[in-house]
Amino acid sequence: MKALTYYGRGDTGRGDFRIEDVPEPTVVPGTVKIDVEWCGICGSDLHEFEADTVSGYSPPVILGHEFAGTVSAVGDGVDHVRVGERVAIEPFMYCQTCEFCITGDYHVCRDLSVVGVHNIGGGFAEQALVPAYTVHAMPDSVPFDIGALVEPITVGWHGMRKGNFGAGQTALVIGAGPIGLTTLLCAQAFDSAFTAVSVRRPGARADAAARLGADAVIDSSSTDVVAAIMEMTKGRGVDVVFETSGAAEAMTTAIGAVRMGGTIVSLAVWLAPAPCDYMQVLLKELTIVGSKGYNKPDFPEAIAAIGDGRIRGAQEIITTRIGLDEAITGGFEVLAEDRSSHVKVLVSP
Ligand SMILES: [Zn+2]
Ligand SMILES: [Zn+2]
Repeated sequence: MKALTYYGRGDTGRGDFRIEDVPEPTVVPGTVKIDVEWCGICGSDLHEFEADTVSGYSPPVILGHEFAGTVSAVGDGVDHVRVGERVAIEPFMYCQTCEFCITGDYHVCRDLSVVGVHNIGGGFAEQALVPAYTVHAMPDSVPFDIGALVEPITVGWHGMRKGNFGAGQTALVIGAGPIGLTTLLCAQAFDSAFTAVSVRRPGARADAAARLGADAVIDSSSTDVVAAIMEMTKGRGVDVVFETSGAAEAMTTAIGAVRMGGTIVSLAVWLAPAPCDYMQVLLKELTIVGSKGYNKPDFPEAIAAIGDGRIRGAQEIITTRIGLDEAITGGFEVLAEDRSSHVKVLVSP
């Protein structure tokens, strides 16, 4: 079968990505084989392609951790999904026995690894073999392309829970990449009274935020984000800031835009430490909380919310659809050249 394999940092300043023929996986006890329908390119994959400083990947590995498809085989001992079922993959793999795993906080397991990042092959392949516990059935109301967005949507969903976000609250989402936009969708699903999105420049990402119904889209290249938020909230600030950009100045913006006693949720992949004025954290008595991926409640809750329409409009996040043959030239290279013209690129193997 065809697959996109990552062989590590090349010496060209780019990750060594190859589309090649590999053996089809064979199902073993406790695993499920998936015919992949759609798989999304994640910003983390793109960091590997661009050979950025931070890497948690263990090549060689078939990439792809945001995918959905149809179950084509199940191993012995698997009874929660059956052949022919439509599923989305929660790519975290973990020890299942430590103090964190047994309470459902497997996202902070010391043995955490990720399908399509570490030792198990991912969704940029015609077929993927994954541990059975990573497989979630989807209702028929969730199409496969949106199924490939369940993973990034669930990142936003976890952020809502970490920020204790709720009905009637106000929010600023910093960044309009895929996670910024899925966070916007989740804030709406949690019945926010007002959600603004700040973007670094005009372009496809800012446009998508507007189409998805952000109450305000603030272009930080031409507008003082904190001043704009203060004007929109009559000087109060927002209840919760969701930081998804990882930009050096982002925590300064977040601290300025959040209300007294408010909460900042950090969802970004930070490539370098960023300044944070802890005197303001004290004076405003802020809560700053990390939000890493997702834990036990998130996938089922997010899939249900997509299925019943509380999360809607997610297709606006998909800006490009390509086949596996074009994944490098039409996906990674295009995104590396100009992120702001694209949001989520989906690949059909
Ligand atoms: Zn990812
Ligand atoms: Zn564990």
